[in-house]
Amino acid sequence: MKLVVLFLLCHTAAIAGKAGLARVDITPQGSIMMAGYGFRDHPSEGVRQRLYAKALAIEDDRGRRSVMVTFDLVGVTRDVADPIAERVEKQYGLKRDQLLLNCSHTHSGPIVGYRARTTYTVNAAQEADVRRYTDELIAQTVELVGAALKDLSPALLSVDIANAGFAVNRRRVVAATRHYPQPVDHDTLVIAVRAPDGKLRGVVFGYACHATVLGDYQINADWPGYAQEEIEKAHPGAMALFLAGCGADQNPLPRRKVELAQTYGKVIQEAVSIALAGKMKPLDGTLQTAFERVPLPFDAHPPREEWLRRTQDRDPSVARQARHMLEILDKEGKLPESYPYSVQVWRFGSSFTLVALAGEVVVDYSLRLRAQLGWNNSWIASYSNDVFAYIPSLRVLKEGGYEGATAMIAYGQPGPFAPAVEEIIVHKVGQLVERTGK
Ligand SMILES: [Zn+2]
Repeated sequence: MKLVVLFLLCHTAAIAGKAGLARVDITPQGSIMMAGYGFRDHPSEGVRQRLYAKALAIEDDRGRRSVMVTFDLVGVTRDVADPIAERVEKQYGLKRDQLLLNCSHTHSGPIVGYRARTTYTVNAAQEADVRRYTDELIAQTVELVGAALKDLSPALLSVDIANAGFAVNRRRVVAATRHYPQPVDHDTLVIAVRAPDGKLRGVVFGYACHATVLGDYQINADWPGYAQEEIEKAHPGAMALFLAGCGADQNPLPRRKVELAQTYGKVIQEAVSIALAGKMKPLDGTLQTAFERVPLPFDAHPPREEWLRRTQDRDPSVARQARHMLEILDKEGKLPESYPYSVQVWRFGSSFTLVALAGEVVVDYSLRLRAQLGWNNSWIASYSNDVFAYIPSLRVLKEGGYEGATAMIAYGQPGPFAPAVEEIIVHKVGQLVERTGK
């Protein structure tokens, strides 16, 4: 009788194969320049909350392995993600499509990467601290992937879409732009990782909203950090991993109080716990993965004289971008005409599609792609694999403003993007979805 029950369980609950979980503390030692806001002018003054990188390894029914890593960080760029991916391939044999890196986009973590000076005002010593932190982060992440793979044991994966309501379209609330439309996507991804006996081992949850409640000098993971804490408190023994969604134009409102970050964390936990207590859809046993970089064209660049003029601009970020562009012009003779944009798709059999897009992606992409792929069958992560710029939809690009145009200045990109950007990304996602469906 017991055997029969087990047999039924295998077939109705679709055993994914195996799953492994691991975490590593990535809180910077000592004070460090913080990422996310241009207004901070000195290093961190303390730690309110520890920062983590967490990994979920999945071995599907064919024995093929893939690993998702989530970071309590503002973003990792290509020059950080690539060495991680190279070492992961060398040490564990995972190809680029089998590794998904996602950042919570907390604005209260350290600056990460090797080009801090193109985005922030930092002195040489501060930049060296950031480089040291980045070197260490890369090494820690590679080890973390190994630890998650080592933890692989039989598991059941299931998914549901929950709901939480605190993200507000921030373009709508700026007084001068109040006429803008206000799309939001309040759907909250919940993936449960359970042992065959039903015990919850891990939860991957996703939401489309900036992690910008707080903006002081204390290191913390903002509301996604509190959400992870609350979920782990409510479900002892389970690890919570946060996937940032297409929240480039979404802010948690109101904000600027620790209690509010905690409250939003609690709201997410309640939404996740409701989903976990309900009937979740089993994820099929075969995980197909694809990763590609597609050139995203920039609009026509201003001439050299214009960049020269802008070096004298009173806005330090405009002057910094101009200096950076002149450096590139001196070295390369021209500015890049496009950016190699990372698109990744993880398709769980016929049951669910997870799209992971690079950059800070506005919510329009989530709404458009999920309308195509199915509201219950898909979720779109942003801040994945390479956080290098904002990714506006055609609508936002035409409207302009921060996410459509001026954010490119802060990011040190020669932007804005050309109008084709939305169609190029949507088309590439479609191709990868089709490829992973075979
Ligand atoms: Zn942002």
